[in-house]
Amino acid sequence: MSGYQTIPYTIAFANELVADPIGFVAYAGRLRLAYQPSQPGDWVGSHAVKVRGMGGILRARTRDLRDDPARRGPERMRKLNTRRQWRCMDRLLCQVCGVPATDPDSGLVPWLLTKTVFEQTGLDRGRTNAPPTCWSCVPKALEECPMLREDFTLYTVTAAQSAGVLADLYRPGVLRTVTLAAHNVFVGWDNFQHHPYALAAAQVVELHGMKTVP
Ligand SMILES: [Zn+2]
Repeated sequence: MSGYQTIPYTIAFANELVADPIGFVAYAGRLRLAYQPSQPGDWVGSHAVKVRGMGGILRARTRDLRDDPARRGPERMRKLNTRRQWRCMDRLLCQVCGVPATDPDSGLVPWLLTKTVFEQTGLDRGRTNAPPTCWSCVPKALEECPMLREDFTLYTVTAAQSAGVLADLYRPGVLRTVTLAAHNVFVGWDNFQHHPYALAAAQVVELHGMKTVP
């Protein structure tokens, strides 16, 4: 099996992974999942989401040591760095090289998708947790990524809008422990009843104006 020549921007390094304990704590008269001890930056979501819900959704903690090769440790090809994945979605950065993926000439964003990371929601719309891939990285991604060898579709999209998160859902267990109730489920920003139980691993966006590239 041939390895990657490139370490994709969203891939985690060993020393970026964090195993801080989580538990349920009282908040606004209910229980919500929290790191212990918690920090204000642990929860994500727009101001409106935080006000209407339980203060946002807890996001999996990770460090960002990509620019520090002496400290980051070896890459973990099966693990995503949640912070860099988030940044890619917020700013439409290429998941391979980390630079803006939007084509400056057309204003369209190239998006390489496999069936496993895509859910169609309309004729030319759909949700994904995979960030875009810039035009110059598309050939490299197709050559080096084993997932893409099996099935892929290359699209251009006109816009991407934050839709929610991909999360593990927990419920309170015995003696202050937590029990995993569901793995890798989509939780929308408007799906408030799930927010207090979710630990987000990735941001999900809804793509608009999708066109396949032959
Ligand atoms: Zn790129």
